Amino acid sequence: MAEESIYSLKMRAEANGRHISGAEKILPETAVGDFARALLERAMHHANGRPDFVNLKIEKLPADKVLDLEALPVRTVEVSSPGQGRGVMTKLLEDSGVANAAVIVDMLYRTSGMRGAILLDADTLERLEPDHQRGVRATLMDDAESACKGANSCKEHYAEAIVLATKVAHAPGMTAELCISDDPDYTTGYIASRKLGYVRITRLKSPGSPQGGRIFLCRTKEAPAERIIDYLERAPVRVTGVQPLRREGVFDKTGFVNGALESLKRGNLFRDELIFDSAAAPCVELGGRGTLLLSSNDYLDLARDERVVRAAKDALEKFGLGSGGSRLTTGSTVLHRELEHELAGFKETEDALVFNTGFAANSGIIPALCPPEGVIFSDELNHASIIDGCRAAKARTVIYRHCDMHDLAEKVRTIAPRQGGLIVSDAVFSMDGDIAPLPDILDTAQEFGLFTMLDEAHSTGVIGKTGHGIREHFSESRHPDILMGTLSKALGAEGGFVCCTAEMRRFLYHRCRSFIFSTSLPAAVMAGALAALEIIESEPERVRALRGNVKFFIAELAKHGIQCVSDSAIVPIHIGDEEKAASAAVRLRTRGIVIPAIRYPTVKRGEARLRAALMATHTHEQLAFAARIISQSLRETKKI
Ligand SMILES: *Cc1c(COP(=O)(O)O)cnc(C)c1O
Repeated sequence: MAEESIYSLKMRAEANGRHISGAEKILPETAVGDFARALLERAMHHANGRPDFVNLKIEKLPADKVLDLEALPVRTVEVSSPGQGRGVMTKLLEDSGVANAAVIVDMLYRTSGMRGAILLDADTLERLEPDHQRGVRATLMDDAESACKGANSCKEHYAEAIVLATKVAHAPGMTAELCISDDPDYTTGYIASRKLGYVRITRLKSPGSPQGGRIFLCRTKEAPAERIIDYLERAPVRVTGVQPLRREGVFDKTGFVNGALESLKRGNLFRDELIFDSAAAPCVELGGRGTLLLSSNDYLDLARDERVVRAAKDALEKFGLGSGGSRLTTGSTVLHRELEHELAGFKETEDALVFNTGFAANSGIIPALCPPEGVIFSDELNHASIIDGCRAAKARTVIYRHCDMHDLAEKVRTIAPRQGGLIVSDAVFSMDGDIAPLPDILDTAQEFGLFTMLDEAHSTGVIGKTGHGIREHFSESRHPDILMGTLSKALGAEGGFVCCTAEMRRFLYHRCRSFIFSTSLPAAVMAGALAALEIIESEPERVRALRGNVKFFIAELAKHGIQCVSDSAIVPIHIGDEEKAASAAVRLRTRGIVIPAIRYPTVKRGEARLRAALMATHTHEQLAFAARIISQSLRETKKI
């Protein structure tokens, strides 16, 4: 392909012989027309006034002479007074090996009114510009991405400053450039060099001051003045990677993100992402190494069960991957409804409704169910998705002490909500593995006509004699209004669900925003979950094996002096300090065991822990090994 010709465009506008605006571009031939118009537009409508003379010069450049330079990195130094700003600039100059720094910075304030810059020898302080009135100007430069940014970018003065400083910094013999705008409203100036980068210094002068100027500080020891001037005025330069500068007082996006990351690291709250090469089974491939996993919520090891996989595969072939629409439009299949009927049967309710995730279910149901005048009573250790649901609801949320039924009853009686409301609780708490006192919750709710909602994410397939969950665990015949659960834990699939009356299902179907405005799950996921549900029913020994494993593991830990309690598949090992918990988890991982450290904000500050999650298919040998390694790692961690 033939090289495209490159052109220089220069615009200069005057009124009554006085300069009012100027700009220049270096562009491929195809962009010349658009930019010529944009520059004329800028000339004719400049804030400095209407011109009576505009010069637009367009000139072809020898393509092999155009230099491509990378933009100087930009940083900003905030100062509180011009004196302090001057100090910063002087110090930076001194650090660059300039002897007369203070004198030179002083000169900067006395150069007002010059069109160009002073070209100053840093060693002799001799002024080298041929015309002291006019000064030296750097021209023939542009942002290399100009043509892509489009002709509108002609308004970006900030980018122009970086382009100029980058060209100047690369001049032969150049030590540094100092600049203060003579614009009375613009108090930020800069010092730039290849070594320092482009350092913006805020408040280099008092607001309203017309003082300003520019000094190119060079060393004729390194290059003769003529060569420096020739480069500045005649070498065409394109600058790549120009980022527009932030205006003062404008929100710092990068700082916002990086600041948050820094603070996570300082608080030992930064998480490494583990990347697995295999299914989340008791033994996994992690970074090419066999590792014992005590952390999956796939408690019954059904995600990779061949019957589950085959059912999903068959449905995948028949229905394809994505469902193509919300449940209210085209996203309902016979498999969605079949699963809902089976879930309802499993939980002994009239009907059920599948959501895309447990999170979506909780965050959508609570605002739908609780009117703005109502009150939500929520256990202090409820899952984040419940907390988000409470936040999304306009109703008042009252937090009661964890599983404290006296506190709940007292709060309900004191507030005595008459306009509706809800008591909501995890059935099995996701961080401690303990169980909510369902019968008491139902008693209290009944008295005040409150809805009740239990989150069975960690109880389905785990508690109750045959894994049916919290009602089976308590042999409770009454039904909470909402038995919410997930397909994503013991069912080894993905998705949330609600088991309830047929009317409640219809109500939620029309009221839950997270249900309505989201594409439904693939039919293949429904088919897989259906197969998993069938297995839980037909092979209750899986639930028994899981419970047996928890007992065994807790007994093994106790042998090593580590006391834990759990009523479910979650075994929390309390540590407290975030750093110690994080370091224990790392030690375990280097010994081939994954047990995550759970830290704030998942649990309260100072309550960090290792959270082991057991599966029905862990062997006693694996669990005994894990208990031994945990005990070793904790002993080592305590020593640090
Ligand atoms: C995991 C979990 C959820 C969220 O379920 P997903 O299907 O993973 O979105 C909700 N509540 C509790 C208690 C959970 O542990």
